[in-house]
Amino acid sequence: MLSAEPFIIALDGPAASGKGTLARKLAEHYNLELLDTGALYRAVGWQVLQSRGDPENEEDALNATNWLNDIDLSNPALRRESTGAAASKVAAIPAVRQALRDFQREFAANPPEGKNGTILDGRDIGTVICPGAPYKIFITADVETRAKRRFLEEFGEDGSDQEYEEILAELQARDERDMTRSNSPLKKADDALLIDTTNSSIEAVFEAAVTFISSKE
Ligand code: C5P
Repeated sequence: MLSAEPFIIALDGPAASGKGTLARKLAEHYNLELLDTGALYRAVGWQVLQSRGDPENEEDALNATNWLNDIDLSNPALRRESTGAAASKVAAIPAVRQALRDFQREFAANPPEGKNGTILDGRDIGTVICPGAPYKIFITADVETRAKRRFLEEFGEDGSDQEYEEILAELQARDERDMTRSNSPLKKADDALLIDTTNSSIEAVFEAAVTFISSKE
């Protein structure tokens, strides 16, 4: 942390891989300002759904980016898997990505007073938004494990098998869209640490990330 380089952690990975939890722990540990970039795409997707637009339509999606500043990013509706699906549709539109890109880069480069740096979590942070970030991590887990986590988050212990199957199908569709889109697909940066969280506790994942960051300091 003594280097002149800005302290930026770029954290990428698929839906429900544990990115959010790891990002919050790292932000606290290193005193970093955190941006959940998925929330930006979710806010755009949500706004399109609210105005009865089509998330795959460029004009509808781009219009929704104008409302970004008015959307409460902590609205629980943004966390629903159906909002995630709309988010991944708007996220495949290059003009939407372009509209959100500068905001993310500005955020990364300008930690507020009192913070040591920034951490951004998303899909293309290490590859496109902050390719020069000194610390890059790519976190993943198998899709059934991720679906189970999302299912428990959304339905608690009361969910049905059918609801689980729906979440699994939505995650698979989202993975496919996020990994195969031509603009900024979900992909590990060559110099990112790969962490598979399928069978790991959050503590073990956090330790692996901290060890990696220390090894680069
Ligand atoms: O991470 P989260 O599940 O909240 O992201 C929602 C969707 O937003 C993703 O499925 C992806 O399509 C899109 N996204 C993206 N690039 C990012 C962050 C999220 O394309 N940096």
